[in-house]
Order: sequence, then C-alpha cells, then structure tokens
Amino acid sequence: MRQQIAAANWKMNLTYVEGQQLLKDILDENIETTENQLVIFGVPFPYLMMANEKVNTLKNFYVAAQNCSNKKSGAYTGEVSVDMLKSINIQYCIIGHSERREYFNESNLDISEKLDLLLGAGLKPIFCCGEPLSIREAGTQNEYVEKQLRESLFHLSAEDLKNVVIAYEPIWAIGTGKTATTEQAQEIHAYLRSVIAKQYGQEAADGISILYGGSVKANNAKELFSCPDVDGGLVGGASLVAVDFVEIIKALK
Ligand code: PEP
Repeated sequence: MRQQIAAANWKMNLTYVEGQQLLKDILDENIETTENQLVIFGVPFPYLMMANEKVNTLKNFYVAAQNCSNKKSGAYTGEVSVDMLKSINIQYCIIGHSERREYFNESNLDISEKLDLLLGAGLKPIFCCGEPLSIREAGTQNEYVEKQLRESLFHLSAEDLKNVVIAYEPIWAIGTGKTATTEQAQEIHAYLRSVIAKQYGQEAADGISILYGGSVKANNAKELFSCPDVDGGLVGGASLVAVDFVEIIKALK
C-alpha cells in the first residue's frame, strides 16, 4: 500500500512556545502509526530544529519546511536554501502552495526549480497544486491541474518521481471551511493518477501519494481519506489544534 500521510501546515502561525506546546500535546498522545502511515509537521523556518528534535526519535514522524529558495546559494537576502534545510536534517519541504503562488507570484517554472534542488539534495517535496474557484465553476479543473503537473513535475525521471508527494488543494477550499465533496476529491485524484500513469506507467502512478488539502477537519477526514485515491491530507487550520490534528492522524487508512 502506498504511504498515507497526515501533513500539518502551520503557515505563519504560533509563537515558538506555542509551537512547542502544540507538538508536545500531539506527541503526548503516543499515536501508533502503521508501516505505511506518515505524520509530517510543516512548521515555520525558525522552529524546524526544535520540531525535528521532538520527532526524530519517533518512527514515521517527520518535519517539513514550508518553502525553499529556487536558487542554490548566494546573494538572495532572506531566502532559505535547500542545502541549509539539508544541513539541519530536514527531509520534507512543501512547495507550490497556492498562497505562495498567489502572494509571492511563484510560477510553475519556479516550483520546478525548487523541486529539482530538493530532489538533488535528497529531500522530498510535497508538491501542491489545485484550481481557483473560477476554474472549478467552468468545469476545467482537470486540465488546469494537469498543466501544473506537466509544467513542474513531468521533466522528472520515474526514479525521482518516487520521492515526490502530491497535495491536491482546490484553492476555493483552503481556509474557507468549504471542503470538496468526497466525489469531487476522488474524481480529480483518480484523474491525476491516470495522467501520471500515462506519463510514467501504472506502477509509478499506483505508488505516488496524493494528499487532499482544503478545510480538512477532524469531522470530515475519515470520509475524505476513505476515497481510494486520497492518501491523506495537507491540513492548515485544523493542524493548529492538537485534538483535531490527532483525530486527523487517526483517520488515515
Ligand atoms: C493548507 O494550508 O494547505 C490548507 C489546506 O489549509 P486549511 O486546511 O486551513 O484549508
């Protein structure tokens, strides 16, 4: 069975002490994960080392950065490079989140450059994609998201693709409390998997985890994750509340 993942995206929330407490509250629950289940905490840069120290003795628990530079190193004030993340033993990095695409003008090309740097350094990208409301209303979401995949991912070798996690996040569902129905989620996840199958073969498509993101909550996670092509979730708001995120982890297949 491919990996089932509960990934938290704290975004730009919580002080250091609040972050420590949230992690403690979640880890104190001593959640048992199965072989194929992963829990990943996407925390702000200044908290990466603290979070990594807390989870690094736990099997199947990891920490992710929420972004990285598309430049290798040099005079890019304020940027954080992939090599810096690697040097503090971070193993995952969220890239292409819709908030970065929208507020920081990240293009599919920028994201593909980040992807290459991450994979080159041995880190695993959590690649976000998803359509805005206008595209969903026009009914062209499949083509829209396929283009995001083609322009950022499909230059990869089949070997590199194995180290990528995809997070499908319809923008109209992020932070809005409006969740895609299980039918909507399953339909587009299955479509994306079929696109990957056409490009890389069925085995590669069957092996890649595709997470759903967009108002995943404790009370809808089980239903969403039960869809055959939904392999867990990327969770914003609900990942900031320990009891809720614990329930979401427990909802993994
Ligand atoms: C996200 O941050 O990727 C996200 C899906 O947020 P939320 O769960 O709050 O909708």
